[in-house]
Amino acid sequence: MKWLKWDRRSIVNFLDAIEIDYKTGGKNVGQNDLNIDCPFCYADKHLSVSDKGLVYCWVCNFEGEEKKPSFLKIAHLLSGRSWNEIFSIAEEFAESEEKETTKKEPEKKDLLLHYPPSTHFLSKPLNSPILETERLKAINYLEKRDFNFIFLEKVYGVRFTLAKNFIQRLIIPIFDESGKMVNWFARDYTNKSDRSRYKDCPSSISLIPKNKTLYGLNFIGEKNKTIYLVEGPTDQWRIGNGALAVGKSAVSPEQENIIRRLKPESLIYLFDEGATGRAISSAERLSAVIPEIKIVKIKGADIADRTIENVFSLIESTNPAKF
Ligand SMILES: [Zn+2]
Repeated sequence: MKWLKWDRRSIVNFLDAIEIDYKTGGKNVGQNDLNIDCPFCYADKHLSVSDKGLVYCWVCNFEGEEKKPSFLKIAHLLSGRSWNEIFSIAEEFAESEEKETTKKEPEKKDLLLHYPPSTHFLSKPLNSPILETERLKAINYLEKRDFNFIFLEKVYGVRFTLAKNFIQRLIIPIFDESGKMVNWFARDYTNKSDRSRYKDCPSSISLIPKNKTLYGLNFIGEKNKTIYLVEGPTDQWRIGNGALAVGKSAVSPEQENIIRRLKPESLIYLFDEGATGRAISSAERLSAVIPEIKIVKIKGADIADRTIENVFSLIESTNPAKF
């Protein structure tokens, strides 16, 4: 295994990427530490991670563990992600010896991204009974969640696909500011429990990684004084214009730069309750340039599964954050 060298910034970026909530200050947090939950005793934010990636749980002391677990083991257990995934994400952020030789990224700006093969419109009936059944299933999924499929197709470019690796998924394009498709989400429409809700567009064909852009950017203009930051594309649909989805609940440095550039007068985080720590740390970084920030904790149902009235009443009843 390669030796990974951590520092505070890379640890924070790594935890954001694997969606682990952390606390960077306050009670029980050492000066060079940040605290996360413990996967062994489940104590809330009592496991400290030092700037060098050393871990220690103040509650269970890792008793019963043969050895002191590594930071990556903690990350693996806490995130539920596979070892392979954890290693490859860790390598993106921590310095490793082999990383010295920087790979040259192929030039992608002249390329185009397309829908996968076997992708169909939602609004056009299909001759094949098999395809038509799938089309109706996809429509049914959207209607059950109270979304208008014709609107989503026309305005958001949503279609359904039976492509080999993305079978029975909605393709949800991500457009850049100019309206060019740069990436897409593939959302399951079967709701079968053994299927992941989202699959990513392969990075070999996407033009911009999902975490370096924001979903909904193509609808943002100067008139948008308020930006609503949500987690997923369906949350963006519920709020519509002015909402941007980060794709997960951690806001990357590139995404924060986009928000800085948009200069909203008001920024509202609408993240799941479990991601509050991530919302706060992002808000702290942006508070220097944005006059008003609200951090709304979403308990229970996702934004996408609420009425817009309910979402706005939650926003109304939340006080602006103080930094
Ligand atoms: Zn513990």
